[in-house]
Amino acid sequence: MKVIRVHQFGGPEVLKLEEVPDPTPGPGQMVVQIRAIGVNPVETYIRAGKYGPRQFPFTPGSDSGGVVESVGTGVEQFRPGDRVYTSGSITGTYATKALCTEPQVHRLPENATFEQGAALGVPYATAYRGIYVIGDARAGETVLVHGASGGVGTASVQFTHAAGLTVIGTAGTEQGRKLVREQGAHHVLDHTQPDYLQQIAGLTEGNGVDLILEMAAHTNLGKDLTVLAKKGRVVVIGNRGTVEINPRDGMGRDASIRCMTLMNATEVELRGIHAAIIAGLELETLRPIIGKKFPLAEAAKAHEAIMQPGALGKIVLIP
Ligand code: NAP
Repeated sequence: MKVIRVHQFGGPEVLKLEEVPDPTPGPGQMVVQIRAIGVNPVETYIRAGKYGPRQFPFTPGSDSGGVVESVGTGVEQFRPGDRVYTSGSITGTYATKALCTEPQVHRLPENATFEQGAALGVPYATAYRGIYVIGDARAGETVLVHGASGGVGTASVQFTHAAGLTVIGTAGTEQGRKLVREQGAHHVLDHTQPDYLQQIAGLTEGNGVDLILEMAAHTNLGKDLTVLAKKGRVVVIGNRGTVEINPRDGMGRDASIRCMTLMNATEVELRGIHAAIIAGLELETLRPIIGKKFPLAEAAKAHEAIMQPGALGKIVLIP
């Protein structure tokens, strides 16, 4: 089978297309034939060595959409031919096949494409956990999806609109703002403009927003505290540096800053998260948006693209 392998940390050029023997499933394992692969920012951080030591060579990736090829003994929920998406893998998903454990594999409803399946594992699970498990969102509240045009942002807009929140989304390009509006945001702002957050007061009758899902805390956390409602919560999902805040902006509001990583999700949380994702796909309240597509051999280009501004949903690799 074809795989992307990393033999040393470095820039996108360390992603090498190679041929390796097909995997065979052990007890409780499955081989998934991959039809589309989701590319997430975290895979660029791991490739660059920012997430600490790894055993080389390794194949990046956790997210994909595909078909079960074979199952090991003890696998109960799946059989060969089932349409699935993955949210993790033993051997990595930047490949034509991946070895997975049963909990890493989920049923992909008929009305979702394999590319849409590849957009779920990290982005939709992160959005759900940020909104409900960490953010305690409630119907009737107002949410600011600060960075709504990318993988996690589009998922967050779809989840919160369907759950009865008023949604304010931001994007840095005209095309991005159009996309955010189409996903169900009630109001859309341009995060490249000076003072764009001043519009929040007018959009919320002076109350501020109850919840912020923050994709760029290194730029925005200080400003976020100034646009929260009383008892408002900021959920830090994305961050690429340090930031100065004035705690006094939060004190007068009884505000909280809540930080999260999907990697901390418990097994019980993950079961609930994937049940919600599958239900949302079936009811079509969730409709993953596919932006740029690259062949598997051009994984390096996909890693360059995901770090550029101008996000439009999910970047996928096609094996
Ligand atoms: P993505 O698809 O590349 O999207 C990035 C988003 O950030 C885009 O909407 C982009 O908007 C927006 N953005 C850029 N500059 C911004 C600014 N100044 N203010 C507000 N938003 C800004 O990435 P993603 O998969 O959605 O992930 C988003 C972030 O969350 C990344 O940093 C990622 O590493 C992190 N993340 C964390 C977890 C976790 O477990 N905590 C899980 C998944 C992702 P424009 O391109 O329109 O400017």
